[in-house]
Amino acid sequence: MKSRLTDSKFMRQIEKKVNETIKKYKMFSRKDKIGVAVSGGKDSTVCLHILKKLGYDVEAITVDAVIGDYTKENIKNLKKVCKENDIKLKIVSFRDEFGMALCYIQSLLKGKGHNYSSCKICGILRRYLLNKHAKRLKFGCLATGHNLDDESQAVLMNLLRNDLKLALRIGPVSGMLETPEFVKRVKPMYFVPEEDVIRYSRIMKFPVKYGICPCSVGAYRRKHKNFLDEFEKKHPSVKYNIVKMHERMLNLIEPKRLDMGKVNRCRICGEPAAKDMCGACRIFKELKIVKK
Ligand code: SF4
Ligand SMILES: [Zn+2]
Repeated sequence: MKSRLTDSKFMRQIEKKVNETIKKYKMFSRKDKIGVAVSGGKDSTVCLHILKKLGYDVEAITVDAVIGDYTKENIKNLKKVCKENDIKLKIVSFRDEFGMALCYIQSLLKGKGHNYSSCKICGILRRYLLNKHAKRLKFGCLATGHNLDDESQAVLMNLLRNDLKLALRIGPVSGMLETPEFVKRVKPMYFVPEEDVIRYSRIMKFPVKYGICPCSVGAYRRKHKNFLDEFEKKHPSVKYNIVKMHERMLNLIEPKRLDMGKVNRCRICGEPAAKDMCGACRIFKELKIVKK
């Protein structure tokens, strides 16, 4: 039977793993100012805490999609964590930026015939705001709390959907060409399994929510999660093997990857875009939102 490490040994092991990942993928150095995209959940809170503990220059940034009590409580918890750890926190709100909450944006779009899920709209607008404010705040990169479970699920989903383009974009460092318009995204927790994140968070007694966002429409992703969790029980290291295999494939097709990851600029706002207009500007145009 696998012996359980003491809490302090376990924490040191996780912190070492995170630091090794940062160094291996040359994510950032101690000279960089790092923005950590936080949600108030366990993953990004643990990520923020570990980076600070390892001596990196971190600031937190969060996007409030105004999802009732759910985001209110997350923001309250984030303020507490940042205050206790002496970390600057920037809060960007959908209400201030767009004049409305996520649910309202979704219902307006629905009224215009677009049946987008909350997560799709939230993801597009959140990425847009994070990139915009990360540039304003002069972050060298944006770190997110994605863990090994998230990444193995993403690889599997792209494989099962035969979505090569998306598969090429994921990885420990954003798969796009380096460009001044796009603040590099990095995932220092890339090799930390979710159960370890939960244990770390519980040891630290972080005030975080372990539940799911009420707007989450992640049924498809949850099926992959359940499948991988079951498989991992019988075949330990399966999640790790999936992300390592994905990494080896990326290395093999690196030139192609760079070509496919080329970044266009949105003709309206100049932010990175897959086509001539970014997803956010399409939404703004549809809703006649004037951006700030
Ligand atoms: S679960 Fe979906 S709607 Fe909720 S915060 Fe995440 S992306 Fe946004
Ligand atoms: Zn745009």
